[in-house]
Amino acid sequence: MDARDEAGTPPIPGSSPTGGHLPATPEETGGSLGADHARVPELLEATRAYAVRLLGGLGDRPVARTPVRPAPVPLPETGIGLEGAMEEFAKRWEPGFAAGAGPRYLGFVTGGVTPAALAGDWLTGTLDQNPTSGLDSLAPDLERETAAWLRDLFGLPPEHEGTFVSGATMSTFAGLAIAREWLGERRGVSPAEEGVAALGPVTVLSGSPHSSVVKSLSMLGLGRSAIRRVGLLPGREAVDVARLAEELDRLDGAPAIVVANSGTVNTVDFDDLRAIAALREHHPFWLHVDAAFGAFAALSPEHAHLVAGLGEADSVCVDLHKWLNVPYDSAIQFTRRRDLQARVFRNSAAYLGPVGDDPDFVHLTPENSRRLRALPAWFALAAYGREGHAEIVRRDVALAAGLGERIATMPAYRLLAPVRLNVVCFTLAGSPSPARIDEVVDAITASGEAFLTPTIHEGVPALRAAFSNWRTTEADVERVAKILQEVASRP
Ligand SMILES: *Cc1c(COP(=O)(O)O)cnc(C)c1O
Repeated sequence: MDARDEAGTPPIPGSSPTGGHLPATPEETGGSLGADHARVPELLEATRAYAVRLLGGLGDRPVARTPVRPAPVPLPETGIGLEGAMEEFAKRWEPGFAAGAGPRYLGFVTGGVTPAALAGDWLTGTLDQNPTSGLDSLAPDLERETAAWLRDLFGLPPEHEGTFVSGATMSTFAGLAIAREWLGERRGVSPAEEGVAALGPVTVLSGSPHSSVVKSLSMLGLGRSAIRRVGLLPGREAVDVARLAEELDRLDGAPAIVVANSGTVNTVDFDDLRAIAALREHHPFWLHVDAAFGAFAALSPEHAHLVAGLGEADSVCVDLHKWLNVPYDSAIQFTRRRDLQARVFRNSAAYLGPVGDDPDFVHLTPENSRRLRALPAWFALAAYGREGHAEIVRRDVALAAGLGERIATMPAYRLLAPVRLNVVCFTLAGSPSPARIDEVVDAITASGEAFLTPTIHEGVPALRAAFSNWRTTEADVERVAKILQEVASRP
């Protein structure tokens, strides 16, 4: 009460209690923000020049860093302006950043950033759209166009509709959330309305599920233990479809979820999607396909058969910050059941309008407000098209095969699986201990020449080299092979 004047009007935030006025322009505020505002073109030129220097040095900077944290600095009280901040960043933090976007970062499955994708990302921040609803901007329509282009790129039928999410984990989370609602539909309940307890126990069958599937089941209240691992084909990471059929038989007609894998992370193996989809003739199940990077096999005529049947899935997960080479974070979720998707993620509020048949994005994913995540992908697809992106896939596949051939001739190493697409999975000759593999990984990292990640394949400690960057060349493979030779010959 005492903060109000006689008319009961609350004071304007930022105005002085002694009758001061709000500044008419941001410059008038003085301080570092006012000073920056007065020099925006010049400061953005300086930022652009810094970015160009960083990109120019990407091939030369050590590929990965063993982190050494700089001494902490307290929250600045007044701030040093953009130029000062850039200097601080360049001094304290940037030297410790990895060349993750560079050509010899072969750890995990890591994409780079094409020029058009980077430009799209810059403009995303510049325009700062919130594509949540279509009340004020065409931004959501650009996102719809991009999703339709991607559907086309992966050869999915028009019944599949796409929504942008932050990564493959969120894509799988959303796909399995729709699956959960589908199970409810079959059992005459709505988990979205009544809670997951109304559903009863749920069975999720998969051959070689990615860890993100298990994490999603935890987040969805279905529980990590809902997953039942199905037997694999001999010497493979692909599911044995006959064993899957037996597991489904055992459920005695109870609806289930099947997670099929298109591109496992160790050996890039592919489940037979057509054979799995055909099982739906006799067994009710929701088919979710984790095609985080494997979906890109569709772009190569020699490898497209690996994802034949992808369109028959009920939900599909594809990462874009991997093989599409857009910056983090970006992935897409496709489903045929947008109605169930909206039932799960509906976010009703008077100011958002009704959900309708073509729901706004706010009703389709876990997020409400978010960035216009489609714009970097739109730029990449507009700039390079299907052909340009097919070329990236073809080149990475050829480079992976090339490294595989070299490793096969090195006495110090042996391949653990044929190079099916873009990952080389190999280990040291003999039976190396996990500690010995870690030594080799650390030595490669310390050399600054390359970054590879360790794994365990069929109980054997191993290494992986994953190719999904548009910048990588034959000369890079040469350098990777050389450092592999070197570190193996060290005692
Ligand atoms: C990378 C990956 C994921 C998880 O992706 P994020 O983008 O890290 O969420 C899931 N499945 C597969 C097969 C992957 O390669």
